[in-house]
Amino acid sequence: MLDITWLRPKTIPEALQMLAEYGDEGKLVAGGTWVSLVLKQRLLMPSALIYLGDIPGLDRIEQLPDGSLRIGALVTHRTVELSPLVREHFTLLSETFATVANVRVRCQATVGGVLCDADYASDPPAALAALQAMEPVAAKGNANSISDVGVGALSLACAFHGARMNVEINLKDLPESEEKSRMLRERDAMVPVFDELANKIQNIVQERMRG
Ligand SMILES: Cc1cc2nc3c(=O)[nH]c(=O)nc-3n(C[C@H](O)[C@H](O)[C@H](O)COP(=O)(O)OP(=O)(O)OC[C@H]3O[C@@H](n4cnc5c(N)ncnc54)[C@H](O)[C@@H]3O)c2cc1C
Repeated sequence: MLDITWLRPKTIPEALQMLAEYGDEGKLVAGGTWVSLVLKQRLLMPSALIYLGDIPGLDRIEQLPDGSLRIGALVTHRTVELSPLVREHFTLLSETFATVANVRVRCQATVGGVLCDADYASDPPAALAALQAMEPVAAKGNANSISDVGVGALSLACAFHGARMNVEINLKDLPESEEKSRMLRERDAMVPVFDELANKIQNIVQERMRG
């Protein structure tokens, strides 16, 4: 049995203080769908789990005056999937979250969690949605963090191409069928969309870095 302290901060500063106190020995938990798996496999053995679920205000989706959405870190996949606001204005996002895992996982897993576990195998459409969200950040975001946007865009492009190769490997030994052709067509259609967007973001970032 693992000997882990379970902490429940009520505010963000309190959570940050706990993180500072435990350093590498402290692990944040939101929905816990990823953390519980790696704990079970003993890939992670923290001294403390810092549960974020009691912090108010992080589970909301709001539309800002410029039309963009602010999605709190504790908003679940299921909430994004079902939100009328997301469905109406950001259909790709609601459709993407609707494809993750199953309803039980989606009711538990959070947006902050899926972004922070940074799994290279996360759905390519999710990576694409994130990349699309990065374009305005590259163009209008804080100049001090512009290189982070460039690195983020490169990481997402890398995740996509890794997933693209996985599709190829997984389908290789399957007999030819309409279903297999469909999956390969869908995959191929995403390549130029992805590459074009990633290049566009890189160009914006390079331009802004040159000042
Ligand atoms: C059965 C199953 C099927 C799945 N299928 C898919 C799938 O089809 N497609 C797909 O893309 N993904 C899939 N996933 C992955 C799933 O999307 C992630 O496990 C989930 O989104 C993680 O969210 P969580 O809130 O549970 O995170 P947690 O497990 O709580 O945390 C995940 C990581 O993020 C960190 N973290 C969490 N919240 C924050 C925060 N606010 N700030 C900083 N760090 C934070 C944690 O410390 C941890 O490192 C699947 C997972 C499971 C268990």
